[in-house]
Amino acid sequence: MDARLESIKDTVLARNPGEAEFHQAVVEVFESLGPVHDRHPEFLEAAILERLCEPERQIIFRVPWTDDSGRVQINRGFRVEFNSALGPYKGGLRFHPSVYLGIVKFLGFEQIFKNALTGMPIGGGKGGSDFDPRGRSDAEVMRFCQSFMTELYRHIGEYTDVPAGDIGVGGREIGYLFGQYKRITNRYESGVLTGKGISWGGSLVRPEATGFGTVIFTQEMLKTRGTSLDGQRVVVSGSGNVAINAIAKAQTLGATVVACSDSSGYVVDEAGIDVDLLREVKEVERGRLKDYAERRAGVSYVDGGSVWDVDATVALPCATQNELDGDAAARLVRGGLLAVGEGANMPSTRDAVAVFQEAGVLFGPGKAANAGGVATSALEMQQNASRDSWSFEHTEERLTEIMVGIHDRCAATADEYGEPGNYVLGANIGGFVKVADAMLAQGLI
Ligand code: NDP
Repeated sequence: MDARLESIKDTVLARNPGEAEFHQAVVEVFESLGPVHDRHPEFLEAAILERLCEPERQIIFRVPWTDDSGRVQINRGFRVEFNSALGPYKGGLRFHPSVYLGIVKFLGFEQIFKNALTGMPIGGGKGGSDFDPRGRSDAEVMRFCQSFMTELYRHIGEYTDVPAGDIGVGGREIGYLFGQYKRITNRYESGVLTGKGISWGGSLVRPEATGFGTVIFTQEMLKTRGTSLDGQRVVVSGSGNVAINAIAKAQTLGATVVACSDSSGYVVDEAGIDVDLLREVKEVERGRLKDYAERRAGVSYVDGGSVWDVDATVALPCATQNELDGDAAARLVRGGLLAVGEGANMPSTRDAVAVFQEAGVLFGPGKAANAGGVATSALEMQQNASRDSWSFEHTEERLTEIMVGIHDRCAATADEYGEPGNYVLGANIGGFVKVADAMLAQGLI
């Protein structure tokens, strides 16, 4: 790492002790930014990096609620409003027992660059709770969401901060959150949350957007090597929103997705995952992958283990951070891997990224490859602002244009800085320069 950036990084790490995921995200970005500071010494003088690493606002709050047996439960809620240079804070809410400040900050930090890359007017933020929706009844989830919003509502707004979903937060949760916001404020402020239902202000393609976008980005990477997804053997991790829609899109483009996972195990389905059955099991019944395997002939279920043991030419990690380590990456490379498109945020460890890059595998980092979700959220905000709703075809066309644009911007930036094909560098520099320019123009705030 560039020596000037090294000392800023050390200060940032020391100021934020115990936040391993945030440290990892910061180091990864700093490693790309040396050449930018050679060209733009004004960024150093204005302490852009020091300011970027310090969230504009961090909110931590108590979320009390009662479970179905009448017992009082207490969770912790978070919203980190990281950077508003380009627009209102924008980023999802994650409900998962692993959530703590370090995870929310890593996600919020990544979100700044991702949102800049989309070319849309949105800043970066992220939030969530250590609440675990798994195994909770609808009534419990509703009471939790209502209590969470009873504090969060005073911090958000269509021109201030616009949350959306992430792990554990889908259409059901957004509905309960929106209802409580409307009740407290007495405003039908559609643009305050994205990921809403279609009949009450949502956008077509938003549920599919992250997974579809990841596959479109991966297709663009493959095109640079004169190939495509057609005929590829694909492995996807996860079986939630991003994973299911990535599987659907990859198969539409002619690939065969032979495996996917949840946090209990994985399935191998050599005929190609049956997306309708997977949606039925995971989205309608809120069941487990094991149930999928029990209902389809010729499918094997592996309890525990790693889905990255299955050979593939294309890998789409769509579950969670640090789920693919250096050993798994080396195994995939030995199995003939051509490309990785990150649907999840930071799913590959730093070791894994190094293995992929050394082996010449096309590697699309999450902040570029999974930006289709937030980009379509921005399209949802546009529709809300103009009280309009667009067709599926039109919205998907916009998503495709945006993803191709992100790919091309990353590729062109990597070329400009002398590292053709390095999408990590392209994404980090491309996103950073846009935000840094806006911060410079807006003065010391
Ligand atoms: P979901 O909650 O819909 O699905 C998450 C999936 O990942 C589930 O299959 C889950 O398994 C698995 N998973 C979660 N945590 C772990 C873990 N610790 N170990 C193993 N498996 C795990 O979330 P999404 O699909 O929305 O999000 C997936 C990833 O995509 C996240 O990294 C998120 O930040 C990122 N992302 C999401 C966007 C969106 O629009 N939703 C936008 C951009 C990025 P199980 O069911 O067993 O818990």
